[in-house]
Amino acid sequence: MTVTDLRGPHVVLLATGGTISSRASQAGGGAVASDTGDQVVASMVTPASHPVRVVDVFRKGSYLLTVDDMVVICARIKEALADPQVLGVVVSHGTDTMEETAYLVDLTHDDPRPVVFTGAQQAADAESPDGPDNLSRAIAVAGSAEVRGRGVLVVFAGRIFRAAGVRKGHTTRLDAFANPDFGTAGSVSGTGDIRLQEGPSGYEALPLPDGGAGSPRVDLVAVHPGADSALLRASLQAGADGIVLQGTGTGNANKEICAAVAEAVAAGVVVVTSTRVEAGPVVPVYGDGGGADLRAAGAIPSGLLRPSQSLILLSLLLRLGAPGDRIAEVFARHGKPL
Ligand code: ASP
Repeated sequence: MTVTDLRGPHVVLLATGGTISSRASQAGGGAVASDTGDQVVASMVTPASHPVRVVDVFRKGSYLLTVDDMVVICARIKEALADPQVLGVVVSHGTDTMEETAYLVDLTHDDPRPVVFTGAQQAADAESPDGPDNLSRAIAVAGSAEVRGRGVLVVFAGRIFRAAGVRKGHTTRLDAFANPDFGTAGSVSGTGDIRLQEGPSGYEALPLPDGGAGSPRVDLVAVHPGADSALLRASLQAGADGIVLQGTGTGNANKEICAAVAEAVAAGVVVVTSTRVEAGPVVPVYGDGGGADLRAAGAIPSGLLRPSQSLILLSLLLRLGAPGDRIAEVFARHGKPL
């Protein structure tokens, strides 16, 4: 871990890798996370609006992160915030799973100081990388007093999003993120001027599990036309403690999958129904293997949570040893708009 010491008020950058730090590995080779946090900071064209202390946590693509790695990032954030001189934290992170890590931090964040995730769509050695500008805007947001109490945010291409509900909405465009159910929380200009919309302050934080809590297995199983229960059963056989079902529409499956869900629930596995649809809540409406039958089989509707963030909430609750009825209650609360 690299720590550059600073005494006065400052922002901490936790560098974890991702495209913002990536370069081609060799002529014609794929891009890999290579730059340290100091190098990422040095790439900024606009001087940082607050002094920055850099902590290198990982140097890897976010498609490689596990939920355990994400718990480590949460712990590093808490360590950084233990210093009263820290105004806020920026996490530079790959975009692929930023919605997962940012949501896990949001669920467990109990400090008014901002935590801001950012990254890049163009690698550090691209002709015009977007990472340096994203980073300078994220630092401006993390150091700003007016952002206190707004929880965990994603700052990308000048837009500010709440972590809850945020998702990567485009594979290649520079404005890669969207929050279809809640919209943007504000914007930040290239010179660090921040506009925030009125927003909710968030839920009471859940505890962060300690390292000894074990790593429950949570699988994501997709429903599709003609899907049978083979993948769900394979997941059970692999020892799943929890399963997120990516249903169709309002959260539907079919009779065979419903029967397998009922067996899973009877065996003590927690099943959550989410949906592959971009926006809107999971609503248990249909019979014949649809969402109403899934709920009758014991599956918990995810509300507004997409599969990615459902998996994070379920993984956290299982790590905390929450029983099924408590898990249902937390999903009912977190799956609704604030
Ligand atoms: N495309 C990704 C990124 O933006 C790769 C990753 O998630 O690390 O960083």
